[in-house]
Amino acid sequence: MYATRPCGHRYVSTDVYTGAVYARREYSAEMTSQTAHLGNTPSSDQIRRAPKVLLHDHLDGGLRPATVVELARDCGYAQLPDTDPDKLGLWFREAADSGSLERYLETFSHTVAVMQTRDALVRVARECAEDLAADGVVYAEVRYAPEQHLEGGLTLEEVVEAVNEGFRQGERAALEAGRRIRIGALLTAMRHAARALEIAELANRYRDLGVVGFDIAGAEAGYPPTRHLDAFEYLKRENNHFTIHAGEAFGLPSIWQALQWCGADRLGHGVRIIDDIEVREDGTVELGRLAAYVRDKRVPLELCPSSNLQTGAAASYAEHPIGLLRRLHFRVTVNTDNRLMSHTSMSREFEHLVEAFGYTLGDMEWISVNAMKSAFIPFDERLAMINDVIKPGYAALKSEWLFQQTATTSGSAGVQG
Ligand SMILES: [Zn+2]
Repeated sequence: MYATRPCGHRYVSTDVYTGAVYARREYSAEMTSQTAHLGNTPSSDQIRRAPKVLLHDHLDGGLRPATVVELARDCGYAQLPDTDPDKLGLWFREAADSGSLERYLETFSHTVAVMQTRDALVRVARECAEDLAADGVVYAEVRYAPEQHLEGGLTLEEVVEAVNEGFRQGERAALEAGRRIRIGALLTAMRHAARALEIAELANRYRDLGVVGFDIAGAEAGYPPTRHLDAFEYLKRENNHFTIHAGEAFGLPSIWQALQWCGADRLGHGVRIIDDIEVREDGTVELGRLAAYVRDKRVPLELCPSSNLQTGAAASYAEHPIGLLRRLHFRVTVNTDNRLMSHTSMSREFEHLVEAFGYTLGDMEWISVNAMKSAFIPFDERLAMINDVIKPGYAALKSEWLFQQTATTSGSAGVQG
C-alpha cells in the first residue's frame, strides 16, 4: 500500500506523493516573516536573557565535559578518549561532526557509561536544569532512555526517580540564583530494542510525577516507528502524549508512519518534511499531501539546526529548512538535541538563526510560543507560561530595545543641535 521509491535524495510514495495528487496550493517563497515588525535584531545578551522553550534535549547528550571526567574517575570507567575536560569537549564535538548519525550515536557510549548510579543521574539532571536556566530556558522537556542506565544495578523506577530528583534540585538551585525553570521528563525507548511497551507503561506510571511524555530514539534507518506500535497504541488508550524521532536521517516514510500509523503528537526533528515541498524556479512553493497535512494540523516540528548540520540534513545554517518552514508557517520550534556533542545551547542556536535569517525578537517570541503551545504539560499551565512568563519577557526586551533607539536618536540629535 505504501510503496516508496527514491527520487534523488527524496523518498516519494507512489500513492501519496505523485505529482498528480500534489495539493494545488501555491505560496511565494518571498512570503517573508510576518512578525518582523515586532522587534529588531537581538544582541547576544538579549538572546540569552529572552525566555526560551526547549522540547528536544537529550540528558545523556548534555553533560558538562568536566562532569564526564569526574564521574568516570568515580566509577572507574577508563575508556574516555581524554581526561582533560577541554580536550574531551572538543573530542565529542569532532566525533559528532563526522556527518553520520551512526557515528554521532557512538559518542553516547561514554556519557551513558558514567550515568549508571543514582548519584551520577541526580548530578547530571541537576546540572542540566542549572545550565538550561542559566541560558534563559524557562521550560524544557528533557528526554532519556531509562533502559540504558541499568548496568549498575538500578531498576527502571530508580532511574526515573533519580533523574526527577536531579531536576527538582536543579530547579531549586536555579531559583536561588534568581532564575525560574520548569523541567518535564520524556522517557525514551531505544528503537533497536524491544522494550518500548515496558517504557511506555513506565512513562504512564510516572505521569504527574515529573514525566510528561514518551519518545523513541536511536538509528532511524531499518527501525521504523511501526515496530513499536503496541507502545503507541497503549499510550493513546491512556490519553498520554508522545513524540517520535522521525524525518532526521530517514525521510518521508518515517514521518508518515510516525503520524498516520503511530499517532505522534510531535515530530522529533521532522526536518525531512522539506522533501515534500517543492520550490520552483519562479519562487512559488508547492506542498505535497504530507507536508500540507503537517502544516494544516499544526504538527510541531522539533527542529535542531546544529545537530542537523552534523548529521548532514543541511549544509549550512543559511540552507537549513527552518528558513523556508518558518516562512510557510509550519509550527516550527528550535531545539538543542545534544548540547555536548553539538557544542551548543538554546542561545547559540538562536544566534545562528539570527545571523542566517535575520530573526528578530518577534521571531524568537513566535518560535517560543509555538514550543510552549506544543509542550506536553496541561493546557492551562502552558497558557500561564505564555501569558505570565514568555510574553512579558519579550515585551520587556522589546521596550528595552525601543528605549535604546530613543536614547541613541536623542543623543545624536543633541550633538547635531
Ligand atoms: Zn534527538
